[in-house]
Amino acid sequence: MSKYFSNKYQSLVPYTPGEQPKDQKYNKLNTNESPFTPSPKAIEYMNEAAKNLQLYSDPDCTRLVNTACEYFGIEKDEILFTNGSDEILNFAFMAFCDKDHPAVFPDITYGFYPVFAEMNGIPYEEIPLEDDFSIDIEKYKGINKTIFIANPNAPTGIALSKGQIEEIVKSNDSVIVIDEAYVDFGAESVVELTKKYDNLLVTQTFSKSRSLAGARLGFGIGCKALIQDLNTIKYSTNPYNVNTVSMMAGVGALEDDKYMKENCKTVMANRVYTVMELERLGFEVLPSSSNFVFAKSNKIGGKELYLNLKEKGILIRHFEKDRLFDYNRITIGSLDQMKALIKAIEEEVL
Ligand SMILES: *Cc1c(COP(=O)(O)O)cnc(C)c1O
Repeated sequence: MSKYFSNKYQSLVPYTPGEQPKDQKYNKLNTNESPFTPSPKAIEYMNEAAKNLQLYSDPDCTRLVNTACEYFGIEKDEILFTNGSDEILNFAFMAFCDKDHPAVFPDITYGFYPVFAEMNGIPYEEIPLEDDFSIDIEKYKGINKTIFIANPNAPTGIALSKGQIEEIVKSNDSVIVIDEAYVDFGAESVVELTKKYDNLLVTQTFSKSRSLAGARLGFGIGCKALIQDLNTIKYSTNPYNVNTVSMMAGVGALEDDKYMKENCKTVMANRVYTVMELERLGFEVLPSSSNFVFAKSNKIGGKELYLNLKEKGILIRHFEKDRLFDYNRITIGSLDQMKALIKAIEEEVL
């Protein structure tokens, strides 16, 4: 730390992204990326867009907003695109939290939430997950604080139903942010409920199901007033937050919805295979509606498994947090990737 670093941030502990080592080629099952390359249409549009990068990007993302409005059946002032969904989540912490509206989220969830709260000097409360790692919605009803819930949750993969989320939304007079980063892998989206409730913000990303993690594109959908507030934040930080190439990648990806749906189907089938094999090898696997599984071996510790697999060129994610220590989060990739994983695990536990 330099002696010039702002007092505000002296105790800030930044988020630690999953490792992206470059020392060798890994079977990468640690950051929930897609095993598939972007849609050919997205690639075509990106190449086209690259020819005009001498111009600033469109701060309103008009072309992408129009495509998304048709796709989701919403109006153009009900959506805001950002540089990854991490950015819209940060905007939501900035826009909808303060001392009177502290942030609330589960104690085990996306590791960025507490960092966003700290970064913005916002008080926050963490509600412990149940013994089976599920969310008890009763604990979120009528608390009138700004609630952040990843659905499905990370790193557990467990999803709430649309009905359960609606119960939380309608019992609170405060903003409820539902982070649907993984919703395309088998959970129910609540985008439709944004028409009915003026306190619901739904965020999604192009990083997982749409194979565009490197393009950094995410968005939020909510009523006009919420989106207007988020735009106030956006235009006060970076009006050109979405670059032209990524914006056009988004248009291509939405137009090629079939490609995304097929890939999600494949990932879900590979998940069934992976769960079956892990259970055969004595793992306890949480019920996942996501493109990853959260699993614990009865033979080997989480950290040991992570380290041993890394030596074999396979990366999975291990979290140091107490309750998660015995577990690993494993991204579901291609069938070949999963077969290689299972073979390597067999060598560890059989
Ligand atoms: C991956 C992820 C995000 C954000 O990803 P971006 O790449 O910034 O769009 C948000 N929430 C959760 C729970 C995630 O796992």
